[in-house]
Amino acid sequence: MASVMSPAKESRVAVSATKLLINNRWVPSESGKTFATVNPSTGEEICQIAEADAADVDKAVNAARRAFEHGAWRKIPASERGRLLHRLADLIEKNADELAALESLDNGKPLSIAKAVDVAATVGCFRYFAGWSDKVHGKTIPVDGDFFCYTRHEPVGVVGQIIPWNFPMLMLAWKLAPALAMGNTVVMKPAEQTPLSALRIGELIVEAGFPEGVVNLLPGFGPTAGAAIARHMDVDKVAFTGSTEVGQLIMEAAAKSNLKRITLELGGKSPNIVFADTDLDEAVEGAHFGLFFNHGQCCCAGSRVFVEEKIYDQFVEKSGARARKRTVGDPFDPKTEQGPQVDQIQFDKVMGYIESGRDQGAKLVCGGDRVGDRGYFIQPTVFADVQDDMKISREEIFGPVMSIIPFKTADEVVTRANRTTYGLAAAVWTRDIKKAHAIANSVRAGTVWVNCYNVLDTRAPFGGFKQSGIGRELGEYGLQQYTEVKTVTVKL
Ligand code: NAP
Ligand code: MG
Repeated sequence: MASVMSPAKESRVAVSATKLLINNRWVPSESGKTFATVNPSTGEEICQIAEADAADVDKAVNAARRAFEHGAWRKIPASERGRLLHRLADLIEKNADELAALESLDNGKPLSIAKAVDVAATVGCFRYFAGWSDKVHGKTIPVDGDFFCYTRHEPVGVVGQIIPWNFPMLMLAWKLAPALAMGNTVVMKPAEQTPLSALRIGELIVEAGFPEGVVNLLPGFGPTAGAAIARHMDVDKVAFTGSTEVGQLIMEAAAKSNLKRITLELGGKSPNIVFADTDLDEAVEGAHFGLFFNHGQCCCAGSRVFVEEKIYDQFVEKSGARARKRTVGDPFDPKTEQGPQVDQIQFDKVMGYIESGRDQGAKLVCGGDRVGDRGYFIQPTVFADVQDDMKISREEIFGPVMSIIPFKTADEVVTRANRTTYGLAAAVWTRDIKKAHAIANSVRAGTVWVNCYNVLDTRAPFGGFKQSGIGRELGEYGLQQYTEVKTVTVKL
């Protein structure tokens, strides 16, 4: 039991789960190794966590395989899987304050947001997929001849899930909920930076009554535990969210091992296109939210803000003023809009991009420095006059750095918006409905927002074109990625 003191009383949250969850038991790693999870507001260790490696992955995959082939899970009716998921959602709701505090402590996001967004959306996600558990039907197919032909949508099997640190609890829900609703069993690796909320939810999973081996949680590192999941011969599918580079490693490992199915939700460099006919203040606020939400640590962040020339100067001025007003500080302070970046590595990476923006001649409108002298806080930073070929305009920064880029015509901006290896999201701001639809239809991205940003919903699919990923999560489309279709043909 470790507990952390900070000035705010909400941050005095006890950590109860620090080990691996295998077969419904909390166990140390085979190697006995542990690692520190760090509070990004201070850079100090919160507590030690058991460190999974290949041997633990083997144990967990065996447990998940037994549960899938022979365990109670196999015999549980689909409706009962739904009831278990609802029970888990109830328990998460009941422990919302504690889970939100763990998330803030481990990840650095403001407590108010952890509760209103992360916990709420996590609960919503489990409830939504709970409802699907007994509603995925096959078809009867009128084949030629005297045969009865039908399809069954069966679970894929043992699913490996590797999740990132930007929305630790929510990414767990996006992956676990559809997998369990469809009857799969899971071996999940939370991100090394943020294991605490996943492990606490692991306790709630056991409490909810999920049978042994259905959910196994393995905190640890990507190149060891993560890679062992990706190459395991007895894992039927891997679902991954994170960087495009690691996505490529996962795909390679899947190809070279057992051709396991993969879904990848990767990075982005999403264009946010603002036309002169829009409501300027709304667009400024929308672009601010689209980039700075979650400290810029969103795969779909609107990190290339294209602004029509006629309103460009005004837009730059207003965006700078809004960013200067953004409150950065202690995630447990209710006034805080932005906490620290997640770790030293991300901090250094983002500061490196800010330096490159300056070096390559972008105009620094505001920010550009760290905040304070401990923890990983960075000033909300806005660059104007950004050119398409600058590094800050091409690469994913994953931090609070906005690039504003002028454009002249709709055709021109579509071409430039699509000139990227990514294709996760895009947005357009305009009062002209024809223009809005024209942009929505021609931007190569998995999600397009019109006059809004970051509107994600459990019911609507999310995922990327091009190098932003493979497959979709959420909604009915997301469910399909957790089933195999079987054709049964019966001679009559
Ligand atoms: P990352 O390395 O892709 O991490 C995501 C997850 O993959 C983590 O659980 C990580 O483990 C694991 N992983 C790392 N290497 C692996 C491997 N060889 N095999 C299997 N799993 C592996 O991302 P990051 O290093 O944390 O962040 C780097 C950049 O990725 C960010 O700056 C951002 O651009 C992007 N990113 C995108 C998203 C997104 O939502 N699409 C989320 C996070 C990061 P560890 O815990 O050991 O890292
Ligand atoms: Mg941490």
